[in-house]
Amino acid sequence: MKVLEMKNIRKSFGSDDVLKDISLSVNKGEVVAIIGSSGSGKSTLIRCAVNLEKIDFGEIKYDDLILAETRNDEVIYAKAENYKLINNKYGMVFQNFNLFPNLSVYENISLALKLVQKKDKKEIDNIVENLIEKMNLQGKEKAYPYSLSGGQKQRVSIARTLAMNPEIIFFDEPTSALDPELTQEVLKAIKALAKENTTMVIVTHEMEFAKEIADRVIFMDNGYIVEEGAPEEVLVNPKNERTKNFLNLK
Ligand code: ADP
Ligand code: MG
Repeated sequence: MKVLEMKNIRKSFGSDDVLKDISLSVNKGEVVAIIGSSGSGKSTLIRCAVNLEKIDFGEIKYDDLILAETRNDEVIYAKAENYKLINNKYGMVFQNFNLFPNLSVYENISLALKLVQKKDKKEIDNIVENLIEKMNLQGKEKAYPYSLSGGQKQRVSIARTLAMNPEIIFFDEPTSALDPELTQEVLKAIKALAKENTTMVIVTHEMEFAKEIADRVIFMDNGYIVEEGAPEEVLVNPKNERTKNFLNLK
């Protein structure tokens, strides 16, 4: 079953054609790693998927819900009343955590449960407690982001995303702001999610991690998907010259 289907996506910033004709489907339970050099369009692709950027052409579907489609060369986005349903389908974890600095760990994780999902306090407490444990943040409920390490901040950010129980989670270089030690604790948390069959799309520069966790690896270059397949194929025996160059396999 497809959770996400993106077809023939095009996106430009001015005269800069950043996504040229990208199609990407993600099945339930699948972990997809996206690799590629800086500027190849990885962030733009997932920002389009989660509606932080508008596409110029193509189609984006979550299950049967159409976020955007193109008719007669015009992109039509879902009506406001459908956004709420579609919004609940996905979550996103950013490179720089994007936590609310003026809210505690508990409040960061629970804010949307309270304001968007309107859950009662008891249910919220339950969910937060579970996520605190899952992300190994015990004792940090009352702490504010400034007092946390980068690894802890990113685990709070992952907990906040999990709280909404999305069907698919996008990670944009979740560890690139972290030093190696903190990187490992965040990668470990993401690996645990993969073990539970969480559907994920992860932009990463961590090739060993991608090899270990991904069901499929996608190599992007200059706005195109140049190569995709099983991790052993793309990361160990790539066919395309550009993939080989990127991985220094020449
Ligand atoms: P990656 O994540 O692979 O490094 P990005 O998707 O961030 O690549 O960027 C791809 C290209 O799009 C870059 O040339 C970048 O400068 C450009 N770009 C991204 N976002 C914007 C924006 N909001 N306005 C203008 N150009 C942008
Ligand atoms: Mg990026």
